[in-house]
Amino acid sequence: MNELRRGLSLACAVCGSRHLFKRFGLFDMHEKCPLCGIQFERMEGHFLGAVALNTVISAGAVLSTICLTIVIAGTDVSSKLLLLTALPMATILPVLFDPFSRTLWTAIDILIRPVEPKELNEAFQYNSSNET
Ligand SMILES: [Zn+2]
Repeated sequence: MNELRRGLSLACAVCGSRHLFKRFGLFDMHEKCPLCGIQFERMEGHFLGAVALNTVISAGAVLSTICLTIVIAGTDVSSKLLLLTALPMATILPVLFDPFSRTLWTAIDILIRPVEPKELNEAFQYNSSNET
């Protein structure tokens, strides 16, 4: 589960490195981890899972916002109020959650298909085997 915690904090699920995104752009991810060398797109279409994860989380947040608005304002709430509360959640959250969805999806992928030693840098493998 350490992998999921790292994925949620924008860190590499394998080594915990936090330098996964290029300097000027939170949305431009390196192809490989600069520390351990794992390639994030481990198979073609890898990031479709991240898009699906982002869609599910964002849709859940929009639905929760609508339900919360109805609970607070009552069932005779105007559609304008529902739109005003749900629209920011529907437009801003998917953009802000995008980098998290990519690192989290990579962590989930690593839990499903564990990393093979050949996927990592030799220097990282040597250092990892000398720890503990
Ligand atoms: Zn790494």
